[in-house]
Amino acid sequence: MRIIILGAPGAGKGTQCKRVVEKYGLQHLSSGDILRKNRAGGTELGKKAQSYMDSGKLVPDDLIVEMMATAISQSPDTGFVLDGFPRTVNQAEELDKALEADGKKIDAIINLKIEDDVILGRMTGRRSCPKCGAVYHIKNLKPKADGKCDKDGTGLIQRPDDTPEVVKQRLETYYEQTEPVVGYYKNNGCVIVLDAGKSADAISSELFETLDALAGN
Ligand code: AMP
Repeated sequence: MRIIILGAPGAGKGTQCKRVVEKYGLQHLSSGDILRKNRAGGTELGKKAQSYMDSGKLVPDDLIVEMMATAISQSPDTGFVLDGFPRTVNQAEELDKALEADGKKIDAIINLKIEDDVILGRMTGRRSCPKCGAVYHIKNLKPKADGKCDKDGTGLIQRPDDTPEVVKQRLETYYEQTEPVVGYYKNNGCVIVLDAGKSADAISSELFETLDALAGN
C-alpha cells in the first residue's frame, strides 16, 4: 500500500504516519526527518536546507524532489507512507513522474484538516528527543520524567522551527504553497478528509478503518 498523508504542520501527520507504518508494515518516508538526518550528519544537502528550515520556509523543490525520488526508488515492495511531501504543486507533479518511472501508484491520499489555533497550541508545546525522534507535548503527552525521553532518558528539546514566530511563518507557507496540493489531488483523484482536531487515538481509528477498507480487510 502506498499512501500520502497531507495536512498543515501540527496536524499530527508524524504521529499518525508512525502508527500506520507499524500497523501495515510500510516504510515511513518523512521529508522533514530525512532533512534533519542530513543536517545532523553534516551533509551538503543538510547544510543547504538549514536556513530555510530554521526560518519556516520551504527548502527548494529541486533538492527535495531529488531526495524523495531516491527514497521512493529504494522503498520496499510492501509500500510506504509519504509524510511532508509533496508540499508544492510542482513537487506533486514531479512525484507523479517519479512514480510513473518506477511503475508505482498511490493508493490513498489522506488530508488531516485542522484549525490554526489548535495547531499553534500543539506545535509550540511540542518537545522531541534529539536522539530517537520520539515526540511529546508539555500538556497533552508528557514524558514520565520531566523533560526526559521515556525511551532513552535524553533531554528533550523544542525544535527551532516550533517557536511561535516560526510556527506562524510555517502556517503562512502552508496556506500559500501547500494547501493548493490538496486541490491538485482533488482534481486528479480522490482525497479522504479526516478531522485532525480530534485526539490522536480517535484519528488513528478512523484512519485505520479507511485503510482497512482500501486494503480489503
Ligand atoms: P516537517 O518536519 O515536515 O514539518 O519539515 C520541517 C521543515 O523541513 C519544513 O518547515 C521545511 O523547511 C522543510 N521541508 C520538509 N519537507 C519539505 C518539502 N516537501 N518541501 C520543502 N521543504 C520541506
